[in-house]
Amino acid sequence: MSSAPPRIHSTLKCDVAIVGAGMSGLSAARLLFEAGKSVVILEARDRVGGRTLSKALSNGFVVDMGGQWVGPTQQRVVGLIRQLGLQTFKTYQTGASLALIDGAALRYDGILPNLDETSGLDLAQAIEKLEALAASIPLDAPWAHPDAAELDRMTYAEWIDANANTQGARWALKFMAPSVFSVDASELSFLHVVFYFGSCGGVDVLTATEGGGQDSRFVDGMQGLATGLAAALPGGCVLLEEVVDRIVQDQAGVSVRATSIEVHARHVIVALPPTLAGRLRYDPPMPPLRDSLTQRMPMGTAIKMMFRYPTPFWRADELSGMAMTDKEVPQLVYDNSPADGSCGVLLGFTEGIPARSWMQRSPDERRAAGVETLVQLFGAKAAEPLEYVEHSWVSEEFSRGCYAGTMPPGAWCSFGPALRANVGRIHWAGTETATVWNGYVEGAMQAGERAATDVLSALDHRPTP
Ligand SMILES: Cc1cc2nc3c(=O)[nH]c(=O)nc-3n(C[C@H](O)[C@H](O)[C@H](O)COP(=O)(O)OP(=O)(O)OC[C@H]3O[C@@H](n4cnc5c(N)ncnc54)[C@H](O)[C@@H]3O)c2cc1C
Repeated sequence: MSSAPPRIHSTLKCDVAIVGAGMSGLSAARLLFEAGKSVVILEARDRVGGRTLSKALSNGFVVDMGGQWVGPTQQRVVGLIRQLGLQTFKTYQTGASLALIDGAALRYDGILPNLDETSGLDLAQAIEKLEALAASIPLDAPWAHPDAAELDRMTYAEWIDANANTQGARWALKFMAPSVFSVDASELSFLHVVFYFGSCGGVDVLTATEGGGQDSRFVDGMQGLATGLAAALPGGCVLLEEVVDRIVQDQAGVSVRATSIEVHARHVIVALPPTLAGRLRYDPPMPPLRDSLTQRMPMGTAIKMMFRYPTPFWRADELSGMAMTDKEVPQLVYDNSPADGSCGVLLGFTEGIPARSWMQRSPDERRAAGVETLVQLFGAKAAEPLEYVEHSWVSEEFSRGCYAGTMPPGAWCSFGPALRANVGRIHWAGTETATVWNGYVEGAMQAGERAATDVLSALDHRPTP
């Protein structure tokens, strides 16, 4: 990001500068405006919404290439939907799900494939342990848990191997790592896993469709939350195609340099994933703990792909469209058709380690591999989608992966305290800093509001320069 050409041609003054017009930066701006502060948001892309991105297919049906689901416990998102008058509908989940294992498609009900009785009991007891641990984590300071050092030293894979005895239960628990975090179980701090589940209200809430994290979808796309928030802000305060590359702070205030403008403010909120915040230059430089943290929160890798058919034909076979596979493309499938079923859309995810090699292949290769898997799941009718669209988030310069930044072993205990602590006039937002629904849009909103509240209290205690 330091390569932005030095063609600054104007300066602006405001109370608070915000870097990033994702849901976190926009939520911070809303609260600051309501408190009567002047705000300028600098956004690198030519659009708002960051990791939410809605796009019309060629038949006009809008799909989400980024975030798409909302659940009833995501209070801020639910409130904003109501306020903006956006329409949602329930995720389709009538009928059986499928598990594709060794080329055979097995029907099952519920969230996980039928395991034999021993494996099922084994999985249930492991999830019970996960739920209990998740509920015990202090969400604003996971490193303060009495067993934090031990939990943080261990990977999620190591915990699974020590706590599940059957192959079926281990497979199901490990499958959750790429599908929730877009990384492998062997790459995740176990403390991070239980923190994350805890922030969402538990494993069941996070993984469930009805009543859980995948409960409902947006008729016109989830990005409508961001465009709605931006439209409600005073004109001219969201500046697009302004890539921030440098932040200077002193006793008097901060200067935030972007592509064509420099903003002078009393405080700045950096609403970026930590790894992207670590790519900015700061003067004075970041304290070592904060910089070390931003070197240790990699983004996951996920490719989201959608296959459109004339109808949701699988529903006639009493299939929900939901499937787990042992294939690389896709590993997870959902029915992503419109509410009225006027066309059929299957959504596939390739995540974690397989996504790292598949992101280097061509869209045609990914499409072909995806269709082959869908045919094994749903039969010959899946062979010829009318349309294929995909999005690889790791290729996006201003995201560099998804769904969120993750913590590898040891990171929470060594560097966690630097995640939210402001550095002078620089405050941190972004879903990665949230204590509820971390990694989700709800978390992004909470984090933005928390950063704005911190700035407001700092402004109350500092004289205007
Ligand atoms: C494929 C996918 C599926 C997902 N599914 C769901 C879901 O179903 N439900 C859910 O709740 N969440 C989901 N998420 C996660 C959710 O989208 C994110 O948690 C949320 O959007 C993050 O918001 P944010 O504001 O914290 O960060 P971002 O959205 O990443 O916003 C950061 C902003 O900063 C900008 N930026 C970056 N660098 C600079 C710079 N140098 N200068 C200026 N601006 C910069 C970016 O362009 C971006 O607009 C999903 C995400 C993805 C990608």
